[in-house]
Amino acid sequence: MHQEDRGLLFYQDHLELPTVERAQGIWMWDTAGRRYLDGCSGAVAVAIGHGDPRVLAALERQARKVTFAYRTQFENRPAHQLATRLVTQLSQGLNRVFYTSGGSESVEAALKLARQYHLAKGDVGRFKIISRFPSYHGSTLGALSVTGYAPLNDPFTPLTLPHLYVQAPTGPGGRMLDPESYVAACAAELEGVVQQAGPDTVAAFILEPVGGASTGALVPPPGYLGAITEVCRRHGILIIYDEVMTGIGRTGAFSAYQHWENDEPVGAEVDILALSKGLGAGYIPLGAIVCRSEIADTVVAGGGFAHGHTYAGNPLACAVGNAVLEVVAEDGLVENARVRGAELVAGLKGIQSGNSIVGDVRGLGLLTALEFVADPETMEPFPAELDVHQMMTGLAREQGLLVYPRRSRGGNVGDHILVAPPLSIDGPELAELLDRLGTAVAALQRRLVA
Ligand code: PLP
Repeated sequence: MHQEDRGLLFYQDHLELPTVERAQGIWMWDTAGRRYLDGCSGAVAVAIGHGDPRVLAALERQARKVTFAYRTQFENRPAHQLATRLVTQLSQGLNRVFYTSGGSESVEAALKLARQYHLAKGDVGRFKIISRFPSYHGSTLGALSVTGYAPLNDPFTPLTLPHLYVQAPTGPGGRMLDPESYVAACAAELEGVVQQAGPDTVAAFILEPVGGASTGALVPPPGYLGAITEVCRRHGILIIYDEVMTGIGRTGAFSAYQHWENDEPVGAEVDILALSKGLGAGYIPLGAIVCRSEIADTVVAGGGFAHGHTYAGNPLACAVGNAVLEVVAEDGLVENARVRGAELVAGLKGIQSGNSIVGDVRGLGLLTALEFVADPETMEPFPAELDVHQMMTGLAREQGLLVYPRRSRGGNVGDHILVAPPLSIDGPELAELLDRLGTAVAALQRRLVA
């Protein structure tokens, strides 16, 4: 790249980054020939690894037939096949599919579908959405309205919907001490927010069943998802699971809600599921919402879903989605995420035991995180100005390892990194990841603790 080509693009910050040249499996190379282990699947998107020839072949095959056909003019086979593939993996009557081209679009669609469902039922007063803090649901205005991450919310508060938040179950100071009474307190908090809003004004509750970037792979305490199900059901509030990051096998189940759906006395229940990242898997922009048939049928009978984007359900994207799901099934990647995920968490705990700055290791399947703290007893975070999450990411990069940094406590303070390699990672590759990560964390420990 010529130096003068730089500077025309702008993103969120001023990082000087290497230029990517190519990628294969869990590895990426820059134009200087340096090799990086993709320890976070890009933005936790590249679910099956880079450059899979089966997906590239499917992409080319479909591109030679037809890349675009608009959904009001044609049906297309890849779109129908993909819908079948998705619903056969899901349960709870989640069997109507609506396509999007990304995660924020899926969240927008889910929120609007919830509103239209209530309208179609004559429940016109229901429009409010409750979400959790911290959380991440996307960057478009609707998805941002339900996101709980202060630096992203604050500039746009005058433009976004009023926030109705409950605390994500992070536990006091980032740790859960007594899960049972804590879950009861979370359910009581949700009940309180519902009562304050007016139960018959609330359309939906949206949550990430396993947290993503904002909480750092937060796994709900036992009983939590059942407890919030019970509150929502009692008040006729739809339950939206944002599985943009957790869907398509990431946590060791095809969809993360499936880990808890059979819990007694009440399990996780889903009305609308939002998917994206792992579906296009970095090969093409693609997303979907999948809802209970009664929701879609009610909205369609009421005149149709008043929503949609140009590229939604195009044959090229859906052909890629089909190929990705075939690879996931053929290579047993959901099972691999479960098995390798357990190894990864064990390895991260090993790193924690040798480094006092690692306050918490959490996650499920291949969605895991390390949280860095000044005091592991109190979980006191490092001063925000140290930017420990970015420091850690730089040190990992020096080891040729990519990780995904964020602030833990709602955006202004706290530091964690996501470790979420492609679901295709094998044993030796995982050992290599842990080795590089261990070296980088030890360097961070030396830098922060005298
Ligand atoms: N929802 C969740 C849980 C996410 O993790 C993300 C992205 O990180 C989004 C929504 C937004 O997805 P996108 O960046 O594709 O718009």
